[in-house]
Amino acid sequence: MFSSRLYKLSPIFIQNFLLSSRAFIRKKLRENKESERLTKELISHDYNSEVLKQYQSKTLTTVLTEAQNSIAFYRRFTDDINTFPYIDKAEVNRNKSKFLSPSKSGVVVKGSTSGTTGAPLTIPQNMQSVVAEQAFINRMMHWAGVGSNDKRAWLRGDMIVPQDQKEGPFWRYSYFENMILLSSFHLAQKNLDSYLTAMQNYGVQAIQAYPSSIVTLAKYLEVNDAYYPGDLKSIITSSESLSKEDKLLIEKRFKCTVFDWYGLFERVAAIASCEHGRYHILTDYSYVELVPAGKTEDGRDRAEIIGTNFNNSLYPLIRYKTGDHVVLSEEVTCPCGRIFPIIDSIEGRVGDYLIGDDGQKVHILNHIPKGVSGLLATQFVQKEKNKIDIRVVVDQSKFDNKQRSILINNAKAKLGNSIEFNIEELEELPRTKNGKARQAICSIEN
Ligand SMILES: [Zn+2]
Repeated sequence: MFSSRLYKLSPIFIQNFLLSSRAFIRKKLRENKESERLTKELISHDYNSEVLKQYQSKTLTTVLTEAQNSIAFYRRFTDDINTFPYIDKAEVNRNKSKFLSPSKSGVVVKGSTSGTTGAPLTIPQNMQSVVAEQAFINRMMHWAGVGSNDKRAWLRGDMIVPQDQKEGPFWRYSYFENMILLSSFHLAQKNLDSYLTAMQNYGVQAIQAYPSSIVTLAKYLEVNDAYYPGDLKSIITSSESLSKEDKLLIEKRFKCTVFDWYGLFERVAAIASCEHGRYHILTDYSYVELVPAGKTEDGRDRAEIIGTNFNNSLYPLIRYKTGDHVVLSEEVTCPCGRIFPIIDSIEGRVGDYLIGDDGQKVHILNHIPKGVSGLLATQFVQKEKNKIDIRVVVDQSKFDNKQRSILINNAKAKLGNSIEFNIEELEELPRTKNGKARQAICSIEN
C-alpha cells in the first residue's frame, strides 16, 4: 500500500486515514475470539510445566499425524519425529508443491523469507496460522507489561514516508491502534531529535522497533549525553539480531527493559527475552531441537536451531534447519519463574559475516565499534579479499581523527592487519527494502 501512487500523492491526513483503515482491517482479521482464547491458554503455560508438557505433546502428535496423512513429502514417515529427515530452505525450494496441504480452505496469506542467503522461500499460511502468531505476540506484550490500549510507537521499516522525501514529519498515525509509526528510512542524524520529540509528544508508553533503528536513537542520546525524556513501560525488538551491548545501551538511554523476540518467517522457532534479560525458547510455539554446532571463540557450546512448526497445517515444516545459531546456557531456572528453557544468546544470522585475512569467516562484529565516540551506526562492506569499507553515520563534533584510528585499529585486531580499511561517512545507512540495516555485506567467496 505504501508504495502505491495514491498513498504517495495523498496529503498527510489522508495517509493517516489510509493506514489507519488498513490497520483496522488487519486487526479485525487477526484479533478475534480464537486469538483471545489462545492468548489466555499460552499465558497459562508460563509457570506450569505439566500443562505445557501436555500442550506440546498433543500439538506435536497432531502436526505429525496430519503431515503423514495429507502432505506428499511426509507420507512415508512414521509417528516418531526422529524418523523424519532434516530439511532446509534449498530442500523446500526444490520440492515446493510437496509440502502444500491439498485441503486449502479460507484465506491464504503468502510471505517470503528475506533471502539474504540463498533464494528466498515463499510460504503460504492459513488464517489459523496468522491468528496463532498474533496470540504469541499478545503474550509477548503481556510479558512486556503492555496493555492493548497503551500508546505505542512503531519503528519497523514500513515505508510510510516516501524514501525520497527529505523534509519531515517522518511519521504517521494509526488511530485504531493508538500508534505512531515512524520511518526507518529517514534516520539521518539531523532528523533524530524530531523522532524523539514526536514520540514524547504523542505520549508513547511502549516502542516496537527493529534493533538497528532503535539503536541509532540510543546512540544519538549517548553521544549527546542525554536520556529519553518520556516514561516508557518497555521496548520490544525483533527481526534483526540484537547484541548484548546494544540491548544494554537501549535500556540505559530509554530507561526501560528491552524485550527481544527472535522468530523467522518459516515459523519453526521463537525465542523471547524476559524482564530478567534471559532468552527463553518458546516450546509451545514449535518443537525445537538444538543440534551441536561447535564452540564459540570463548569456548562455549553453540547449537543450530532446528524447528518443527505447530501452527501452519497448510504448509508444515518438520525438522527444518534454520541456519541460525544459539549459544547454550548453563542456567536451568530463570528468576522470572517462567519454565521455558534458557539459552545464553542468539548469534547473528549465519549470512552476515566478513572474511579475515586468514581466510576465516568472522561473524561477530559487535566489538569493532566499541569504545569509538560519535558513532551512530556502522556497516561493513567487503567486495575484495583485502579491502573492507566501513560505512558510518557519525556525530561530526565527536568523530575526529583519533576516533577514526581507534575504529580502524579495532577492525584490524578482529580481521587482520593486512586488510585495508576505508571509512566512508554517510548521512544514513542504506537499508534493505524491508528497512533493515545489515551489519555486514560480503560479496566474495572464501
Ligand atoms: Zn525469564
